[in-house]
Amino acid sequence: MPVPVSQMWTVASYVLRQKLAGRKQYPLVLMLEPLFRCNLACAGCGKIQYPAHILKKDLSPEECFRAVDECGAPMVSIPGGEPLMHPQIGEIVEGLVARKKYIYLCTNALLLKEKIGLFKPSKYLTFSVHLDGQREEHDLAVCREGGYDIAVDAVREALKRGFRVTTNTTLFDGANPKSVRAFFDEMMELGVEGMMLSPGYSYDKAPDQKHFLGRARTRRMFRAILSNRKKEWQFNLSPLFLEFLMGKKTYPCTPWGMPTYNVFGWQKPCYLLQDGYAETFSELLATTEWSKYGTESGNPACANCMVHSGYEASAVHATFNSLGGFLATVKGTLFSRYRDDEALRMLEEPVAAVNPLVQIAATHQAESLQETRV
Ligand code: SF4
Repeated sequence: MPVPVSQMWTVASYVLRQKLAGRKQYPLVLMLEPLFRCNLACAGCGKIQYPAHILKKDLSPEECFRAVDECGAPMVSIPGGEPLMHPQIGEIVEGLVARKKYIYLCTNALLLKEKIGLFKPSKYLTFSVHLDGQREEHDLAVCREGGYDIAVDAVREALKRGFRVTTNTTLFDGANPKSVRAFFDEMMELGVEGMMLSPGYSYDKAPDQKHFLGRARTRRMFRAILSNRKKEWQFNLSPLFLEFLMGKKTYPCTPWGMPTYNVFGWQKPCYLLQDGYAETFSELLATTEWSKYGTESGNPACANCMVHSGYEASAVHATFNSLGGFLATVKGTLFSRYRDDEALRMLEEPVAAVNPLVQIAATHQAESLQETRV
């Protein structure tokens, strides 16, 4: 089982309560960004390019608790920046555990061994360790040689101490499906609870603008990777979201399902775009022009997006929206290995050689990213 039964029950009962209350827009996971500072400078990141005075800012624990209480989502993801660089991260996590929120603390793990004493193992706390593939692929993606070995060492330490640990992998154009599948084997052998996946989003602030995936290529790549699954692989994602990535399902974007709160306030409309901020969660819901977003909207910023922060809540909604959705989720979780001969053949296709380690350039290369909206 990729997540504890108590967590599944908490989420399922929460979603059913929202449905019974007739709420059309409800949050499932709060994306809480307590800072933007980081100890890496990944080429595909759009979060660390703020000016120094913004990068110095931290959300206080009280601001974090207010946002969590106001939002009411049962799960809180803490990305950044690197949350372990926040001077009060131990206090923030302790306060959220006391509120019985299921927390995914997203970290590159460079500081995890050093800071692990700040935390106590709990069913409410999971370290979601950023690993973008096998050693060479990960070090290339995070622009840091040795990053993979440090992260894997930290995962071992966290598991030894009894913490829940998942991996969190972003895949860009040029990812080698065979290598990604070998990476899944490595992570399962390492003992992580489950794996999260997302295609990279084409942040206009990211230094490397060449390797973001269009929708058609995203589906093809995930079909090759996720078909013919090994039964040992556990994913910490909705099975219907994985089917969405493979091109087996289509969903509209529901960005209110994973709202973002950071040092600027409640970000409109989602974790990826910044079309203004609201002071409160209810103001975010009431004042965002939601129809301007999502692939169907015609908004070019959304044209190639398939990321979990826009579409995983849609997949969870689909699970509880009909008996068919529920049965498809059960089948995807327990039974289906997604046999697909064409996908097996795709694994044998040649892939481009891995580039040398990316060095961060000072200028951004703006290229058209709207490969396809199909
Ligand atoms: S499609 Fe992607 S970028 Fe657009 S609103 Fe949804 S999550 Fe944000």
